[in-house]
Amino acid sequence: MDCIFCKITAGEVPADILYTDEDVIAFRDINPQAPVHVLIIPGEHISTLAELPEEKATLVGHMVDVANRLARSEGISESGYRVVINCGKQGGQLVQHLHMHLLGGRQLAGSLG
Ligand code: 5GP
Ligand code: ZN
Repeated sequence: MDCIFCKITAGEVPADILYTDEDVIAFRDINPQAPVHVLIIPGEHISTLAELPEEKATLVGHMVDVANRLARSEGISESGYRVVINCGKQGGQLVQHLHMHLLGGRQLAGSLG
């Protein structure tokens, strides 16, 4: 499958990986929009949030937990941060492998689009 995030998970494409466990992997965004910009993704290929099966909804809770832990290790837990999942074309999703953005380290704009 021609998926850049699956290639990162498989170690075929390099990335600055911050965290892995049996379900998720987290690495720095290649084009950071803030001083801290990390992507948290499932190891399994799930293309969008809309494709997440109901029985796997707890996976997103685990991704949030990993984002919280990374926010602490990246030193933005106190100052604040944002987690974002873009879904589909109008949601602004460019990479078709479910991912959560963790953004922080500067004052983020108030707009949600
Ligand atoms: P989306 O718009 O799909 O929510 O966000 C995709 C994100 O993936 C973008 O912020 C983009 O910079 C990041 N990205 C795309 N290709 C790569 C890559 O090869 N490596 C890394 N680390 N990030 C990538
Ligand atoms: Zn994938």
